[in-house]
Amino acid sequence: MRTLDSFEPLPPYADPRVALKHALPAFRPAEKISVTKAAEKYMRVNVSGQWQPFRRDVTPYMVEPTDMIASRSYRGMAFCGPSQSGKTQMLQSALAYTIAADPGRVALFQMTREAAAEFERNKISPMVRNSAELRERQAQGRGADNIYQKLFKGGTQLTLDWPTITKLSSATMRLVLATDFDHFPESIDGEGDAYSLMRARTRTFLSRGMVVVESSPGAPLKDESWRPQTPHDCPPVEYGVLSLYPHGTRGRWYWPCPTCGEQFEPSFKRLRYPESADPMEAGEAAQMVCPHCRQAFGHDLKRELNGAGRWLHESAEFDADGQPLLVPIDSGTVRRTDMLSYWLDGAAAAFSSWRELVTQYRQAVLTFEATGDEEKLKTAANTGQAQPYFPRSAVSELEVTVQGLRDKARGMDLPKGVAPSWARYLTVSIDTQGTRFDVGVTAWGENGRHQPIDRFDLFHAPGDPSRVIKPFEVAEDWAVLEQLETQSWPVAGGDARLSAVALAIDMHGGGATTDNAYRFFRARRRAGQGGRWYLTRGEGGLNRPDRVWLKAPESVSQKANKRRRVAKDISILFMATDRLKDAVMASLRADDGMINACVIPEWMGNDHLTEFTAERRGEKGWAKRPGMVRNESLDHLVQARALHIIKGGEKIDWSHPLPWAEWSEANPYLMLAAPEEDPPDADVDQDADSAPGTARQPMARPVAAPMSARSAPGRGGWIQNRGRWLT
Ligand SMILES: [Zn+2]
Repeated sequence: MRTLDSFEPLPPYADPRVALKHALPAFRPAEKISVTKAAEKYMRVNVSGQWQPFRRDVTPYMVEPTDMIASRSYRGMAFCGPSQSGKTQMLQSALAYTIAADPGRVALFQMTREAAAEFERNKISPMVRNSAELRERQAQGRGADNIYQKLFKGGTQLTLDWPTITKLSSATMRLVLATDFDHFPESIDGEGDAYSLMRARTRTFLSRGMVVVESSPGAPLKDESWRPQTPHDCPPVEYGVLSLYPHGTRGRWYWPCPTCGEQFEPSFKRLRYPESADPMEAGEAAQMVCPHCRQAFGHDLKRELNGAGRWLHESAEFDADGQPLLVPIDSGTVRRTDMLSYWLDGAAAAFSSWRELVTQYRQAVLTFEATGDEEKLKTAANTGQAQPYFPRSAVSELEVTVQGLRDKARGMDLPKGVAPSWARYLTVSIDTQGTRFDVGVTAWGENGRHQPIDRFDLFHAPGDPSRVIKPFEVAEDWAVLEQLETQSWPVAGGDARLSAVALAIDMHGGGATTDNAYRFFRARRRAGQGGRWYLTRGEGGLNRPDRVWLKAPESVSQKANKRRRVAKDISILFMATDRLKDAVMASLRADDGMINACVIPEWMGNDHLTEFTAERRGEKGWAKRPGMVRNESLDHLVQARALHIIKGGEKIDWSHPLPWAEWSEANPYLMLAAPEEDPPDADVDQDADSAPGTARQPMARPVAAPMSARSAPGRGGWIQNRGRWLT
């Protein structure tokens, strides 16, 4: 693919024989030599002020990636590593190889024009000047040795570039290199990401074209709740080298354990050190722990273990658990992709010690604890450990994790739709959405003990199951909620059933939501159910004097000279959501048996549990995490807690509970035994009781069964009843 104009310009008045002699190397086939071997043969490096031949054993983990730059099986490479790993040296090795062994058009991109000039001044120029073989190949004449362009005998044209759309859309290049890639703009002048544009530049070279980008990770996480799906999985990030990594071969660097010989990935998180010590002492004591035999060893073995290390990539073949096998690059079974990807943890880096990494990290932790500033922690993670940064607040002790909830739920195998035997009253939480009401039901026991027992959507229009409701728009659609007044849930261990003592509807929504909510509420009040329904509105901020309060809506939005006739007859249940979320999280973390403990049932799948983790606690309150869409589980418990508080659930004297919390015939929401024959018509007697909070269920309650009396599910048990009673 080489053309005549890729040769160096002829000197003026040149002797054609001399010109031909200079041009001849261009017709020489590429020297059969690996990139690393070429670097050892032709390139000198500055070691503590001395120019010495490059040696592969200083950074053994760079050998494979460096050699793969000349591979015809791949078109691209993403290398993620710490700042002290020698990954930029890899790009210089590629330049030396190109100049001396396989001439062609090569571009090296830096994040800015200034960075490109500095790289030329501090790296490229001294490298060529001090490497006799490279210096000898430098072309003479005008334009042959500029800051941003250098020509070499044999036909190599090297440009030092920075990412602009002009530079990334003009020339055709065989080899494109990019350093500090995570500091490149996410989009190059609105035309797309730098890697894709670079790939387009090398396309005409087909299998000879190659794009290599290297960087420490720097981009923010897209999803803080991420968990790996495969052994070398990588969290989703907004841009940069780790956004490319999962699309490649997914290589990681492995060591053989000096004790048991098993392979493992050396990483910062496997370093063990005393946390209580001062940062320097912690650093001095750092040791690596083998995940197989749990034996620890010191930093003095790092060089030797790097010498024995190797890259393993994810395979296209899977083990018995459906996980990809880990294989060397030349195994023939590496996952199918045209991109190589490598990710080196800082613990293996040749030019930084564990002592430095741990000291840097511990100092950053102390800074964070003293000031709340996370910047040093981010730097320690990104450039020291070569890891993406999980914000501290993402793992705040105020929060819960899906795994923690999963562990907590183990053994809580009551089916969905059934209240536990300790339940005394139920609350219903309703999240208003554009095309549905999302309903959550919470069972409450003594001393604030509670548990989500049901979760479902109401989305069919009342009287017309073929139409989907629109709560933000259609007032009549709210009637679909009426059934929740009479719906009852079986209590485990007997024939008893409970219906809701209170129901909360979130008024948050567009269009006519507020008006529709008022209209619905007034209708329920006329029907004698006003004492059970609450319209809720969340108010942020941690300094609210109360957690919940009832207030008419107009007094909130009242303007001085503008007396709008708003719903003076309605009290809104205002919720201090940030304070309530603190309380809900404390309950989710609390073990069963503690006051206010929330029991998590096994039927809640990962999707529901993930909703509990949808928000992050900051200094000023709770906010959605990046990437998290749904938080209904959390909102439902916030509403449930608000109802529990406003009803006085916290103040119940359990030796003399209020009627609605009592396990007796006096409890209007408790049906102690299922009827023997037909279930009563749900329409009967609905409006008879007009006093709020005392609406009686229209059914017989023959005898007050003591709570200890438990009958096995059978005739009249909850399994049979459920289908007939639940709407
Ligand atoms: Zn071991």
